[in-house]
Amino acid sequence: MELWHERNREEIEKFSGEYVEFINTALTERLAIEFYKDLLEKNGFVPLQSFTGKEEKVYYVNKNKSLIAARIVDHPKYGFNIIAAHVDAPRIDLKPNPLYEDEGIAMMKTHYYGGVKLYQWYNIPLALVGVIVKEDGSKIDIKIGIEESDPVFVLPDILPHLDRKDQNVSEKFQGEKMNLIVGSIPLKGEEKKPVKKYILKLLKEKYDISEEDFVSADLELVPAVKAREVGFDRSFIGAYGHDDRICSYQAVRALIDAETLEKSAAIILFDKEEIGSEGDVGAKARFYKKFFRKILKVFGENDTEYALDELVENSFVISADVAALINPTFKDVHDKYNAPKAGNGIALVKYTGIRGKAGASEAHAETVAHVRRVLNKAGIKWQVATLGKIGIGGGGTVAKFLAQEGFSVIDMGPGLISMHSPYELVSKVDLYESYLSYRELISKR
Ligand code: MN
Ligand code: MN
Repeated sequence: MELWHERNREEIEKFSGEYVEFINTALTERLAIEFYKDLLEKNGFVPLQSFTGKEEKVYYVNKNKSLIAARIVDHPKYGFNIIAAHVDAPRIDLKPNPLYEDEGIAMMKTHYYGGVKLYQWYNIPLALVGVIVKEDGSKIDIKIGIEESDPVFVLPDILPHLDRKDQNVSEKFQGEKMNLIVGSIPLKGEEKKPVKKYILKLLKEKYDISEEDFVSADLELVPAVKAREVGFDRSFIGAYGHDDRICSYQAVRALIDAETLEKSAAIILFDKEEIGSEGDVGAKARFYKKFFRKILKVFGENDTEYALDELVENSFVISADVAALINPTFKDVHDKYNAPKAGNGIALVKYTGIRGKAGASEAHAETVAHVRRVLNKAGIKWQVATLGKIGIGGGGTVAKFLAQEGFSVIDMGPGLISMHSPYELVSKVDLYESYLSYRELISKR
């Protein structure tokens, strides 16, 4: 089955266009959650606080960084079809005390977040996005570098003329050498650190920010580049942050668009996946269980702990995350018999982990069979995927943290080329096929 010719091209383009609008807006986990909150509300989802048990659609936002939403069509203890994805993406953060002056240039110290190949982030335009919370609790939204008229920021590398020493990439590019250029005009009449002082003056005037305010901030540097169609045939979408906002988008759309649900459905969007799912907003956190317990309580369950166990046991979870597509130039890192190819549909990942599957929660044969049955019946194209050859590397997703709570989980998602780079590529037809897969699986028993 040639997917490009099998599917309606107009539908692929329409969905891709809507996704591009989202990915250009959702530059951080906070902005992604804000986008979804609006979208869910527009589609009739009510906040958990006002849920009475009569509404079908309900959502809960956890600390502006993670979210759970559900459509309840049965007693919740009979379980949910759940799609879990993450909304954080690899990036460069500012350090808490970032600003300094050196050789007449104002610079900022950064600290990378997630698995990034540091060299890829040098010499590209970066935007500064996030929030600063002042001592009095007021919030300042920062978004500099997105509008055409905005300035951008750059992590400068060294010119090739002075860089002939034979060094490997990890020697050459180190976290402490990722210092951002933020200015070079000295404050008039100032002798000590005049450039830094001028930047501080500007920050005060323009944004009402003091130097200490950077301490209580979530500020991220993200590529200041819009999503674009890639290739003569425009078959790919290049963008920053596909991993994993792409699956979060497909998941939310699947939940909203699914017509008849044979079982209750939910989506959970986590933060902090790229650094091990830690904290109170990641997949190790309790907030989604709190959501389910509240729902069970509204449905009259008194022993919500026991009812939650029942709910978990009766649920099916898709850990919706991206897979590593074969890149023709570097194909020897894959086992070609078990690697996903561009344009071949959604990738099913039975297990992740490294070496002897260490760190993986392998999907049970029964779980994979369920997925096969539902997708085959709907004529949806899927392929198997593993993360590279044995021993080459590896990785994980939110799957194992949900599996450890008792959920039956499988990893599934579209494949990417150049994953974790500032400009990741996805095939439009895989984007669309993954959405169809999620919509089908969330609807069926
Ligand atoms: Mn991911
Ligand atoms: Mn990732």
